[in-house]
Amino acid sequence: VAKENGRGCYRYFTPAINKRARQRLELGTRLRRAFAQDELALHYQPQVDMESGHIFSAEALLRWRQPGKGGPIPCGAFIEIAEETGLILPIGQWVLRQACQQLRLWHDAGHVAMRIAVNLSPRQFYQANFLASIKAILEETGLSPTMLDLEITEGVLLQRSEDNIATLKELGNMGIQLSVDDFGTGYSSLGYLQRFPVHALKIDQSFVRGIGSSPGDTALVTAIIAMAQSLHLKVLAEGVESLEQVHFLKAHGCLAAQGYYYSRAVAADILAGLLHEQEVSPTRCAWPGNGEM
Ligand code: C2E
Ligand code: MG
Ligand code: MG
Ligand code: MG
Repeated sequence: VAKENGRGCYRYFTPAINKRARQRLELGTRLRRAFAQDELALHYQPQVDMESGHIFSAEALLRWRQPGKGGPIPCGAFIEIAEETGLILPIGQWVLRQACQQLRLWHDAGHVAMRIAVNLSPRQFYQANFLASIKAILEETGLSPTMLDLEITEGVLLQRSEDNIATLKELGNMGIQLSVDDFGTGYSSLGYLQRFPVHALKIDQSFVRGIGSSPGDTALVTAIIAMAQSLHLKVLAEGVESLEQVHFLKAHGCLAAQGYYYSRAVAADILAGLLHEQEVSPTRCAWPGNGEM
C-alpha cells in the first residue's frame, strides 16, 4: 500500500515540480538576457532624517524594466533566481558600480553630503576579488568610502570563517559603513554585533508595521532601538508608512527612516529633484502628508 501511495504521490507531484523548475529555468534565461540587454535599472529610496525631513542617503533597489510588458517588476520576484543561478555576482557588481556612479553625479550636482546604500548578496561577499572590486569602483568614481553603506544580512555575520571576519574588518577599516538589513528576522545570536565592525541596524519592516497595533512588535522595536543606542550603533526604521509610526520612532530615539510615508524607490532623476528641492528651501519638509509617488 505504501508503495502504491508513493507511486501515487510521484505521479501527482512530478508534473507540478517540473513545471516550477521549468519556469525558474526560463526566468533565469530571461534574466540573463535582460541583464545583457541593459534592461535592469536601479531605483533609489530616500533615507530620511525624521527630525528635519531631509534626505541624507538613498538605498539602491534593483528593478527589471521589461519593454512592452507593463511597468517595472520589483526585485523580490527575481533576486532569488539571480542568487540560485549565480547571476547575482555580475549583477551585484553592476549594481555597486552603477550606484556609486550615480552618487558621483549627485555629489557633482552639489549634494555633497548625500550617501548611498547598496544591498549585498552573501554570494558577492564571499567572492575572492570582492574587496579589490569595491576598491576599484571607489577609485573610479572618486568617492570617499565613508559615503558608502553596505547592507548585509544576519546570515553573513553568522558565518564565522576567518576570511569572512577579515573581509568585514577590512571594509570597516576602509571607512565603509556596514548595516545589518532586516534586523531581527534572522538568527537570534546578538554576540556578533560586538565581534564585528557593524555600524547600523535596519529594523525590519515587519516589526515597524506592527507599531501601535501589535504589542509584541511594538516592544521589539523599542528594544532594538534601546540596544542600538547602548551599543553605539546607528538605527534606521524600514517600511515606515504612517505618521503614527514616525511619532513613535522619534519618541523612542530612532531618527532615521525609509518607507512609503516619505517616498517609494524612485528613478534617479526624480530623486535628484527631491534633493534639489530640499537644498532650495531647506526649512520646508519635502513630502508633506502621505508622500506616495
Ligand atoms: P530590502 O533591502 O530590505 O529593501 C527594502 C524593500 O522594502 C524594498 O523592496 C522596498 O521597495 C520595500 N519598501 C520600502 N519601503 C516600504 C514601505 O513603506 N512599505 C512596504 N510594504 N515596502 C517598502 P524591493 O525593492 O522589492 O526589494 C526586495 C529585496 O530585494 C530587498 O529588501 C533586498 O533584500 C533585495 N534587493 C533589492 N535590490 C538588490 C540588489 O541590488 N542586490 C541584492 N543582493 N539584493 C537586492
Ligand atoms: Mg536593503
Ligand atoms: Mg530590509
Ligand atoms: Mg528584505
